[in-house]
Amino acid sequence: MTAQQHDVVVVGGGNAGISLAARLQRLGVDDVAVVDARTTHHYRPLLSYVGAGQATMADLERPQRDVIPDGCTWVEDRVVAVDPDASVVRTRGGRTLGYRTLVLCPGLLEDWDATPGLVDAYADGWAASTFVADSAPRVWPALTALRSGSVVFTMPPEPAPCGATALKPLLMACEHWQRTGVLGDLTVHLVLPAASALGVPAGDEQVEWALAAYGVQVLREAQVEAVDHAARSVSVVSPAGPRTLEDVAFAHVVPHYRAPAWIAEAGLATASSAGLVDVDPETLRHRRHPAIWSLGDVADLGIRPSGGALRKQVDVLADNIVATAGGAGAGTDDDLRRYDGYTVMPITVDRRRLLLVEVDRAGQPSPSAPFPDLTRPRRLTWAFDRYGLVQVYYRRILRGKV
Ligand SMILES: Cc1cc2nc3c(=O)[nH]c(=O)nc-3n(C[C@H](O)[C@H](O)[C@H](O)COP(=O)(O)OP(=O)(O)OC[C@H]3O[C@@H](n4cnc5c(N)ncnc54)[C@H](O)[C@@H]3O)c2cc1C
Repeated sequence: MTAQQHDVVVVGGGNAGISLAARLQRLGVDDVAVVDARTTHHYRPLLSYVGAGQATMADLERPQRDVIPDGCTWVEDRVVAVDPDASVVRTRGGRTLGYRTLVLCPGLLEDWDATPGLVDAYADGWAASTFVADSAPRVWPALTALRSGSVVFTMPPEPAPCGATALKPLLMACEHWQRTGVLGDLTVHLVLPAASALGVPAGDEQVEWALAAYGVQVLREAQVEAVDHAARSVSVVSPAGPRTLEDVAFAHVVPHYRAPAWIAEAGLATASSAGLVDVDPETLRHRRHPAIWSLGDVADLGIRPSGGALRKQVDVLADNIVATAGGAGAGTDDDLRRYDGYTVMPITVDRRRLLLVEVDRAGQPSPSAPFPDLTRPRRLTWAFDRYGLVQVYYRRILRGKV
């Protein structure tokens, strides 16, 4: 079959793909195709507020056709293979798309196999999480129905889509239980993959204070190994040894994540088990295939992925694609702009206050504004996160204006 040819093919029409396509168009690249089979676009940060009873799915969803930038070609299909030597991608629907420049941003996939029992536990309704969109509307009703017993929350190990935000439904629920007088009758567990929640002292201090104030029992450097919805148990491994949490009334267990397998099959992944795209973490260009670039959750950038990080990645990558004559290979890496690894972790410590941790690749503070100190929980920051950012996202970020 003859390949449909485009200057730039963007795989994935999520936060990364749409923002980049829009920015490229603004910079004068006019033959951009975005491949994505999803017909509904999600502003995913609001899922945390769906899980806290502060938002509905309608607040975060838009038809995908409304977010595809005018002038871009939307290929409503899924990529299943890349042939970097022939400069083509192949889709589930049988299309072959040729490119001069390829941008990979399909996000991360839930790795259900990594946690035996979890698929069945979600199907049963005993487990749900803000990270699995279909299940997010079940989270708040399940949490607010609890009067006693044990409840488990987890933060997913990296790579994960802004994994630290798994703390949001936990801390908002704790405040609700405290206000309604049931917190003392609940045993709340948090399974943390690292020694501390955020790995950044200013943010950790606030989060640890909140966890202690709510009496949350924290299992550190720990991961869920398996769940059993019939037995209502969660098995956890940590340096302290294996432990099974019994009689769990509700499990907010977030799946582990990995990159789509076709990235490794095309020889485009790093050696890591998650199979992320092997790009230079500063220029965002593939280490072996100069016409291929990547950004967003699927790119191996040495950071904790987040939507906030994309603001800078899109800016750098769009300029780099233009600077290399459409990104197809011309120009040396010395001419390219560099991404400093900026990322964000927004955490609600209760139902009306949020703190924002912004760091660079080395984990050093990288605040967007010098004042006020956003690592202190504030009402205004919560209001912006809940109500303001979704407007900025659909009106400016996805239109390549931020
Ligand atoms: C519950 C939750 C809360 C979050 N909260 C925050 C927050 O408060 N702040 C923050 O900064 N970030 C937050 N994030 C993270 C943020 O949403 C992600 O970092 C961001 O969406 C990453 O964008 P992306 O385009 O890389 O991936 P995605 O948004 O996952 O988009 C990937 C797109 O690629 C498509 N795709 C997948 N496979 C293929 C394929 N084979 N072919 C074609 N298309 C494909 C998918 O359909 C999807 O549309 C949160 C994420 C979640 C899940």
